[in-house]
Amino acid sequence: MLSLFVSPSLFLFHIDLIKLRSLFMLVQVALPVPLYRVFDYSLPSDISALPNASPNNSSIQLPQIGSRVEVSFGRQTLIGIVVAHIAQADTSVPLNKLKPINKCLDAESILDNSLLKLAYWLARYYHYPLGEVLAVILPTLVRQGKPLDLLITHWRILPHITDDDFRTNAKKQKQQFDMLKLHGQHGASEDVLLLEGMERAFLKTLEDKGLIERYIQPKQAPTSVKLAKMPLDLNEEQQLAVAAIVAAHESKCYTGFLLNGITGSGKTEVYLQAMQAVLEAGKQVLILVPEIGLTPQTRARFASRFAAHIVLLHSGMNNTHRLQGWQDCRTGHAQIIIGTRSAVLYPFADLGLIVVDEAHDGSYKQQDTLRYHAADVALYRGFQAKIPVVLGTATPSLEHLKLVDEGKLVECQLSTRPGNAKPAPMQLIDARLQSTHQQTQDDGARYDTGLTDALIGAIRQTLEAGDQVLIFLNRRGYAPVLLCEACGWQADCPRCDAHLTVHYNNQAQRSNYSSNSYLKCHHCDWQAYIPTVCPDCGSQNLDAKGMGTTRLSENLHAIFANPQTSKALYPIIQIDRDTTRRKDSWENIYQRINAGNPAILVGTQMVAKGHHFPNVTLVCLPNADRGFLSADFRSPEHTAQLMIQVAGRAGRGDKSGRVLIQTLQPDNALLLKLVKDGYLSFARELLQERKMMGLPPHSHAALIRCEGKTLAATTQALKDAIAVLPTGHNLAVLGPIDAPMSKKNSRYHAQLLLLAKDRQQLHHVLNHWWQPVLTLPSAKYLKLTLDIDPVGW
Ligand code: ADP
Ligand code: ZN
Ligand code: ZN
Repeated sequence: MLSLFVSPSLFLFHIDLIKLRSLFMLVQVALPVPLYRVFDYSLPSDISALPNASPNNSSIQLPQIGSRVEVSFGRQTLIGIVVAHIAQADTSVPLNKLKPINKCLDAESILDNSLLKLAYWLARYYHYPLGEVLAVILPTLVRQGKPLDLLITHWRILPHITDDDFRTNAKKQKQQFDMLKLHGQHGASEDVLLLEGMERAFLKTLEDKGLIERYIQPKQAPTSVKLAKMPLDLNEEQQLAVAAIVAAHESKCYTGFLLNGITGSGKTEVYLQAMQAVLEAGKQVLILVPEIGLTPQTRARFASRFAAHIVLLHSGMNNTHRLQGWQDCRTGHAQIIIGTRSAVLYPFADLGLIVVDEAHDGSYKQQDTLRYHAADVALYRGFQAKIPVVLGTATPSLEHLKLVDEGKLVECQLSTRPGNAKPAPMQLIDARLQSTHQQTQDDGARYDTGLTDALIGAIRQTLEAGDQVLIFLNRRGYAPVLLCEACGWQADCPRCDAHLTVHYNNQAQRSNYSSNSYLKCHHCDWQAYIPTVCPDCGSQNLDAKGMGTTRLSENLHAIFANPQTSKALYPIIQIDRDTTRRKDSWENIYQRINAGNPAILVGTQMVAKGHHFPNVTLVCLPNADRGFLSADFRSPEHTAQLMIQVAGRAGRGDKSGRVLIQTLQPDNALLLKLVKDGYLSFARELLQERKMMGLPPHSHAALIRCEGKTLAATTQALKDAIAVLPTGHNLAVLGPIDAPMSKKNSRYHAQLLLLAKDRQQLHHVLNHWWQPVLTLPSAKYLKLTLDIDPVGW
């Protein structure tokens, strides 16, 4: 409403605003709410809330598309992104009833057109609300409305201030003033100053006294990338791959490559040399890696080749660093960006190449909220930006192999290792024919080590030759089950359909009530003491069954590091989440391994990826083949990938290596195929099988999961969902059935699977069906989620 006391100039200004309003200028805002729509808002009544508003500028700028605005939404105040300017409201709400924007937070768009397009694509493809897609894309501080240049606040002493101007008895103030003085006329960034021990409160005090000022230093334009080290001479296959990628880059067109190279074949060298051309053209390169544990090592490799501004993006960063990284990518300051999954959603000023390393890796699929697959998003972004995308792997996923067959990916093969290194041959040990080695405990009792004599012999031989051994066991803890021998009781998680894992460091600790001795659920982290008697029958005959990495280490210790039984003593290095929890523990482990002395490494899948252990010449898999028997149809694929990755750790130095697989099912056809013919023919056979069964990638899947307090309610909601499927839909509908672990964390899960011959069909049904399903009466108190291209069920 017009105040009676407006000044004339403000009055004129107001007329302008009215004129503008009469053009029906409204904005549509995407808000972080679980609703599949955007919201209309009018312009703010308070003119100063508009961007670029200044009293002598009569042309009022609308908040830009892609900028942040603060709005009222119900009783909440939310921050959203402007996605459109419109002339008329979509809704039937009369214009004067539309709420105005409270505040514009950015004078300019913070999301460029391509990132907005990406958001729209993600929303469509994954059937996820646009506002929530944007909430996933934006770093927390951006979502909270913080200014983007918040971070590069600098402080300096005002030019005219001398020591004479600052005479004080306040010692601390003087000390802080002197600290800043050391930085000279330009001062330093707040980050740096705080690190040096300056305190924010004092900076503020000195500012209030008119002695120092804060300012924003524009980031220097990055200098051009320089080669810090000469590239290696490529072998023929590497040359072909680099040439193909560089040609795609130069012709400015999208090409997806599958760089299919056996472990240790020099894929990274191909990335590096392809990158060189892209970086020299002044463009940015994004490298996605599966795991944060790998990033320091990977970073070192890229940093030693290029003198460039390298930015690391991973889930361990704090919010400030994340925003800084985001800004660096957006402004073009970052030249090489190495990141885990979510880096594929960052804004880039001028991206020229995307590399997805270990593209088959399961960690590229996000398993909650927006369930995207980073390799798929990478391909989309490459297509959008007209740049090459390289998916590198030794064990391509069946999806990617099918894309090669369809001509949608160009395959480049690397079939040899450079130099003398040869891929280690794989050999089976039939654990049914050989008894496993028995060991005698201090008290005389015998126990089973779970290792055949053949395996133990090979380990000893390797150690005596001065080499290292890697034993892979994908199960941490001491044992997966605690069993009562008298009545069959097992320690189960009260909140999940799962056994509790036994944790203690060795047998001697088993009945200690110590912090090292406990039962734990690996799904919900529930913990309990280890009972001394069976809670059901009172028997003391409780036994840890099966083997985790701790128990395996203990058994190996008894054989290879016990002065009573072994002449030479070899260190056993256990590598799993329990032993690498502390910050510096990886460092220590690396140092011990890199010292190069004979040792046995025992590890979970943490050791499978990327690591380079040059002295490992023997890799043992005592029971990795279990996955071939699992109910999940993807399990053989994933098991084989993991086995090949682990096997790839053998013989990476100058010495050749070998791989021993101890198995109870030596005539399993899939296992034999993998061992005899290698991963590719194994994968081809699986692909054929999937085709016959109509399973992905020969069909397209959407998995609907329903979570609630009872299984009955979740199943009923899914039944109701089936009932509202459009008639004549042509999809295969499987379920509802209980989810694989239907009770988890005291919540129940049921699921429903939709399979379609072609993708269009699936999306067509989902477009009409999914939103109504969310509003089904029976779904009211349940959590329904949709997973497009699920990786397992
Ligand atoms: P991948 O990424 O395929 O597992 P890497 O890139 O780690 O393989 O290469 C394995 C080893 O081979 C590295 O030590 C690397 O420096 C070396 N290498 C790669 N390409 C060449 C080459 N053309 N000539 C000599 N050594 C090479
Ligand atoms: Zn019992
Ligand atoms: Zn649990």
